[in-house]
Amino acid sequence: MDAPLLDVDGLVKEYDTGGPEPLTVLQDLDMSVREGEIVAVAGESGSGKSTLLHLLGALDRPTAGTVRFRENDLFSKSDEELAAFRNQAIGFVFQLHHLLPEFTALENVAMPALIQHRSLSEVRPRARDLLDLLGLADRADHRPGTLSGGEKQRVAIARSLMNEPALVLMDEPTGNLDARTAQPLHREIERLSQDIDQTFVLATHDPSLAQIAERVLRLELGQLHEIDPAEDIMPAEAASRGRDADKS
Ligand code: ADP
Ligand code: MG
Repeated sequence: MDAPLLDVDGLVKEYDTGGPEPLTVLQDLDMSVREGEIVAVAGESGSGKSTLLHLLGALDRPTAGTVRFRENDLFSKSDEELAAFRNQAIGFVFQLHHLLPEFTALENVAMPALIQHRSLSEVRPRARDLLDLLGLADRADHRPGTLSGGEKQRVAIARSLMNEPALVLMDEPTGNLDARTAQPLHREIERLSQDIDQTFVLATHDPSLAQIAERVLRLELGQLHEIDPAEDIMPAEAASRGRDADKS
């Protein structure tokens, strides 16, 4: 069998919060992701989803444990090597799009390649293709301030794909959008998975986003537990809180 894209073993993350005991967020966590898979990480707010995604994307270092990426031990690399790895191999989409306001949609999409000191004229065709892929061909010259919430998040998704990353990490990518705006984005993610066999790890507390995943893992007490994708991803109490929040 092929080695997994991502192989996480015994991951521990503690935060020093100034008190006598550190805060343990991830505790001996194991995880494995195959090439081409869509995996959802579900869990209540504060359960450690963002912490886990930051470690998978090498934005932060664990307290203990290993993350192997195509059999390479990530955290044996220097900070400089990790920065290059992130730029090349990982695409990030955050809840807040983090687009640069003074650049156009096309320039924002091209940014990960510009960081590699490639010229805009060289990478413009790919940035255009990606905007096209996300249904934004006619928004290429718009600045983020003139785009809707859903459009901004599409630009962020296009940007995450710019350097043909092996893995796209999405941290509650539609958490900021209403259901009507989020739905087409979910279909977009599903389509990218089918069309270009893109691997995704999505953190979400949105059941409709979890529905597009092949596997749903619930993060609880620092560890992941596989749950049936048809099952409610949140405990009843949290789900009803979520529904109330939707109404307001
Ligand atoms: P989620 O994304 O599931 O809401 P997070 O990973 O953001 O959860 O946070 C998990 C826990 O770790 C929370 O209790 C949060 O307050 C804490 N935490 C996150 N980042 C830090 C940090 N840099 N320093 C201290 N505590 C943190
Ligand atoms: Mg989070």
